[in-house]
Amino acid sequence: MISDKANRIGASPTFKVNAKAKAMKAEGIDVVDFSLGEPDFPTPAAVKAAGIKAIQDNYTKYTENDGCPALKKAIIGRLKEDYGIDYAPNEVIANCGAKSSLFLAFQALINDDEEVIVPTPYWVSYPHIVQLAKGKPVFVRTKEENGFIMTPEELKAHISPTTKALLLNSPSNPTGATYTEAQLAALAEVIRGEDIFVVSDEIYSRLVFDGFKYKSFPALGEDIRKKTVLVNGVSKAYAMTGWRIGYAAGPAPLIAAMGRLQSHTTSHPTSISQLASVEALAGSQADVSRMRAEFERRRNYSLMKLRTIPGLSCFEPQGAFYLFPNVRSFYNLEFNGTPIRNSYGLAYYLLREAHVAIVPGDAFGADDHIRLSYATSMENLEKGLNRIAEALGRLKPAKQIKRVALSNVVTRVRGSVPTDSRLPLNLRDGLLVEAEARLSADVLFEWTAAIAGVIIRLRTNVRHIYEMWMENWPATPFDSGIEPHGILVAVDGIAGREPRAFYNTETKTGVVVNVDAYGPVRNLALGMAGDVAGRHFGSHLVRGMSVDWEGRGLILVGPAGTKKTDLFFGLIRDPRFRFHAGDMVLIRPAGKSAQADSLERKAWLPTNSVELFGRLAPLFDRSKCENVVVRRDDCPNVECLRTEDCRLDRGGPFCYKASKDAHALLDPDWLGASAGPRRTALQWMFILRNDAVSPALEALRLEDALRILELGETPGIKKSAVAAPKPFFNPTFLAAADERLELEKDFFRRLLPNIRTFLLNAGAAGVDKIKEAIGA
Ligand code: PMP
Repeated sequence: MISDKANRIGASPTFKVNAKAKAMKAEGIDVVDFSLGEPDFPTPAAVKAAGIKAIQDNYTKYTENDGCPALKKAIIGRLKEDYGIDYAPNEVIANCGAKSSLFLAFQALINDDEEVIVPTPYWVSYPHIVQLAKGKPVFVRTKEENGFIMTPEELKAHISPTTKALLLNSPSNPTGATYTEAQLAALAEVIRGEDIFVVSDEIYSRLVFDGFKYKSFPALGEDIRKKTVLVNGVSKAYAMTGWRIGYAAGPAPLIAAMGRLQSHTTSHPTSISQLASVEALAGSQADVSRMRAEFERRRNYSLMKLRTIPGLSCFEPQGAFYLFPNVRSFYNLEFNGTPIRNSYGLAYYLLREAHVAIVPGDAFGADDHIRLSYATSMENLEKGLNRIAEALGRLKPAKQIKRVALSNVVTRVRGSVPTDSRLPLNLRDGLLVEAEARLSADVLFEWTAAIAGVIIRLRTNVRHIYEMWMENWPATPFDSGIEPHGILVAVDGIAGREPRAFYNTETKTGVVVNVDAYGPVRNLALGMAGDVAGRHFGSHLVRGMSVDWEGRGLILVGPAGTKKTDLFFGLIRDPRFRFHAGDMVLIRPAGKSAQADSLERKAWLPTNSVELFGRLAPLFDRSKCENVVVRRDDCPNVECLRTEDCRLDRGGPFCYKASKDAHALLDPDWLGASAGPRRTALQWMFILRNDAVSPALEALRLEDALRILELGETPGIKKSAVAAPKPFFNPTFLAAADERLELEKDFFRRLLPNIRTFLLNAGAAGVDKIKEAIGA
């Protein structure tokens, strides 16, 4: 239901930490909250009174779409008084908070793929705001030893022909770093020589310390003013975060474009807040001064306290209300056996063990840091900082951590790719020429495997595919000079082609194009082997998970969503049942039963099976893996990201659960007592469905079973509810010609009289029903 772009975005980390702290407080835990991005002072009384008066005067209807004239006048007056810059009414716009000003400015400025230079550490929303405008953030890592100030050289080095804008934030959230006039002038010199626009977020400009002489970027000269949009607002300076008033000042055409966008989104900021903001900006500024002085006092105190903590260093900010200490030296220490590996891990530790809420630096693109807001009382500061000092002091050097060096490759292509199983001969020739040209230009890896007795030679330019292939399949006798039945060419890097698999049945040629993952190659190899074995050897590949029970075999077959894996591991948990095959079984009808072989040296298992069978985790640690998630940023599991208990956050080096596309090649022999034989005598087949109404178990007559298998669709399940049905439930089946389908049907016609077939509703029955049916 949710769009990809919305799914990619998690809630703002500051709001998330804050919500967590609030929830803990509601449970009665005394949490000290340093996560807040807002002044803890009340909105000035005169401002509140102006809001109330607006209501009494019935100023409660739509206003001008770019802000009412009185507010624009107040904005213009403030910018003139504070920074000496002149703006005309058509050069300013009021928005719903500075966040909204920034959002609209980038929507108005950026064409698809244009770059925006964003110095790091950055405020959490900047990358999202740029990306939602379809721009590309280009990060410039500022150095702590330079006071987190971007130098003109660093700026210059990141400008490219597609750079559209620079996003400046002084004073900065999260570092508090504030650019001096000279530092800004040096950046302006670079800007003058380039066709680049500047978005200057000056929301903290009134909160500077030690008599700092604040310079607004557009005040650097008329030429710079023409290239800058200044963003500011009332949230921070007047403790008015909830009133939602921000503003932008810049060239009239840009402001007009922002106004057009605003007219279709929020229309304009709230009328009542607009009049309250007139009072804030044009009235007495005494409260601002008081607040500023109090923040300075708290900064001095907190900085002093923080700097007494051994191992911690902290930059001295000149503005805003945050401290951004460097906590790198605490990483790889541990508490009760849990190592802390990053800022998320430390934030988790401090919240759980010290009851202090801080924001991990990673949220700002600086994982060596954490952010503390001192927008809270002196009493809270003292209590919270003591707790932090105490908690950090309790961390111990990690005992020799047994770190698993996971053998894992993260690929560009995920999941399956479309397969064209009727590739005509002439097109096959052309495709092979294209593929072979790439192979001769790159490295070539070649290895011949015996898959279900079918000899298939792999030729590829992807090392990962080659390594997985060797791991997965038995080899042909070395140097036997044997001619393969089929050739599978897997080539990445062909310009202008989509990831795709092709198969030509006459020549038994498989081609996989522009795929760097092993999964699609394995699928095609199984399809090819199934094709040859089915035609020539009388043995067939059946997609299913099978177990052995004292020499007798049971196979589970069914489409996705029918709990096949749950039932399989449910059976294995009973020591009488042993692992036979995890995905594909080679079956040959033989007399009164059927011989079932597991054909893969290593079982290709989704790593999220660890949730069903915990014993797999240490075995996956030793297996060759594909697409196991090792970085939080790569985690596609939106649901899991929203819960606040991410294994990667807490310092885990990887997560087996995170991605459905993650697989491991597991050696089934490592399962010890649960490891089964390679061959078993198949006796039972359970075809699975999963719904609320069908009977738990039905014995199937041959014709019914055949029909269900051929359609690859279990009765009672709406077609739209599952992915397109696959004949014989086998997604690797290459039905290159109708006669192949007939062959397959014929195989099941011979097989089914020798075994017992059931239709099991996983929505109504579990493993006990299976055991009952087979008399176990
Ligand atoms: N810019 C920065 C750097 C901020 O820290 C914030 C608030 N956290 C904003 C903009 C947005 O402010 P507003 O509440 O006015 O939307």
